[in-house]
Amino acid sequence: MRTRTLAIIKPDAVRRNVVGEIISAITHAGFRIIGMKLVQMTKAQAESFYEVHRGRPFFEELTRFMSSGPIVVMVLEKERAVEDFRALIGATDPRQAAPGTIRHRFGTSIGENAIHGSDSPENAEREIAFFFSLTELVDHAL
Ligand code: UDP
Ligand code: MG
Repeated sequence: MRTRTLAIIKPDAVRRNVVGEIISAITHAGFRIIGMKLVQMTKAQAESFYEVHRGRPFFEELTRFMSSGPIVVMVLEKERAVEDFRALIGATDPRQAAPGTIRHRFGTSIGENAIHGSDSPENAEREIAFFFSLTELVDHAL
């Protein structure tokens, strides 16, 4: 069964002009893009998106960074989308991420790690609804 996940190309990767290379890696790995937009979050929106991390030591820095510039948000569809996308992006800290993963290739630090991927199907649905309305998602013919 095809499932969905939310991806965010973070401000560091947009600034370094690697959006095209990251999208290429994602589509080559078999994901279909069913929604995509360029946006900049406000600080308050970033705090709401990362609500689960409120109170953690990195929350302030994370939400300041995520609202510091444009991001590319995408809804991706694939069998086992959440699990396979987490494998494609690699560990949170780019130094721990396996060679070939997006964070290993494009991340520079644990904070500026180039990309976000939902960590469960439930969180994926919440995160997709945070950025997209139903009419902004396409239904690919098979
Ligand atoms: N983060 C950070 N310092 C940490 C842990 C996380 O700056 O010690 C940032 C990092 O950008 C990460 C995001 O907070 O991607 C969300 O953290 P999470 O533990 O959910 O990692 P992820 O699911 O993104 O791998
Ligand atoms: Mg997470």
